[in-house]
Amino acid sequence: MNKFIYLDYASTTPVDKRVLEKMNDYLTIDGVFANPSSSHYLGIKAKDEIEHARINIANILGCIKEEIFFTSNATESINLAIKGIIYNYLPNNKKNIITSKIEHKAVLETCDFIKKLGIKVIYIKNSNTGSLDINLLEKKITKKTILVSIMHINNEIGTINNINKIGNICKKKNVLFHVDATQSVGKYILNLKKINIDLLSFSSHKFYGPKGIGVLYVKKSKFKIILTPLLHGGGQEKGLRSGTLATHQIIGLSTALNLANNEIKKEKKRIKILKNKLWNGIKNISGIYLNGNLKNSSPYIINIGFKNVFNKILMIEMKNIIISTSSACNSNKYNISHVLKSLGLTEQLIQCSIRISFGRFTTVEEINILIKNLHVSIKKIRKN
Ligand code: PLP
Repeated sequence: MNKFIYLDYASTTPVDKRVLEKMNDYLTIDGVFANPSSSHYLGIKAKDEIEHARINIANILGCIKEEIFFTSNATESINLAIKGIIYNYLPNNKKNIITSKIEHKAVLETCDFIKKLGIKVIYIKNSNTGSLDINLLEKKITKKTILVSIMHINNEIGTINNINKIGNICKKKNVLFHVDATQSVGKYILNLKKINIDLLSFSSHKFYGPKGIGVLYVKKSKFKIILTPLLHGGGQEKGLRSGTLATHQIIGLSTALNLANNEIKKEKKRIKILKNKLWNGIKNISGIYLNGNLKNSSPYIINIGFKNVFNKILMIEMKNIIISTSSACNSNKYNISHVLKSLGLTEQLIQCSIRISFGRFTTVEEINILIKNLHVSIKKIRKN
């Protein structure tokens, strides 16, 4: 497997071996496998372990354990956050929610769904480098607004939204604020004590935990946030998310978050150096363009294109280097990235764009190989 250079960490990350080792203790007959809702000794033990994980996650995020709810992934958390709030207002076609054009499809498709229920969705435009117009967002919030849903870091171009500022605006205007933090948890220090966020979603597989487990943070405040559950059944997670809790997945998420958090600053510095190295090594290739911007962006993601070099051909040419055309979801269902489109790129420039995302196992040697391959492959493609 090592013959591949994996540079698609924004799509998913491999499970860290230390995480897998820990998860193994929660699956088999000699481990803590019992149903955490069972009242026997083994069930209580499993529930105990889950509560320890919940406390660990809460401590890392600067919140309390009662605010952490386990789901199957960020998509479910996002659906629960948005629909969970909106369902309380139905039927009512006078209310609105505010989001942006470059959110992940989990947000945009959920918004499309609630539009059909009669809720208005207002989309705030971004600049052609991916920055959100926060002043416009503030102006658009009215008495009819229930919720603002804005991502922290864009998964395709890496631009960072100022969630502190947006949180303050939402608090001042008395509307709920949901943050899709799927690309920032485990990479950025998020102190929920200090930021005005009411709901926050993420998935474990973006920070070397297993797939199939996510979190929805729901702030406990004077004004109780009431969410209508999406799933009904055994009443787990205080009735908000029924279904037997997956102990091994929760332990995996918690362990992965711990490992990521311990190295968060050092790792970000290391990745920043790798991103700069890559950019400096390729910025002189003729016809290169950067999607987004370098200043206000995550070091973990870079989105670039080379005029007249189609991404699919480039990917075939460099088949041992795993990069992406845009987000993984887009590559399957949609031909054209809605994010790049909203930056004003033509269809052809979108088809010539690639996303490279760095992670824990990315090395300087890999970046050197990538730089060399880009130079050689682009020359070859343009010649043919
Ligand atoms: N939000 C963002 C910003 C993402 O990058 C992703 C996944 O790529 C999601 C939401 C959805 O995550 P999942 O597929 O784990 O539910």
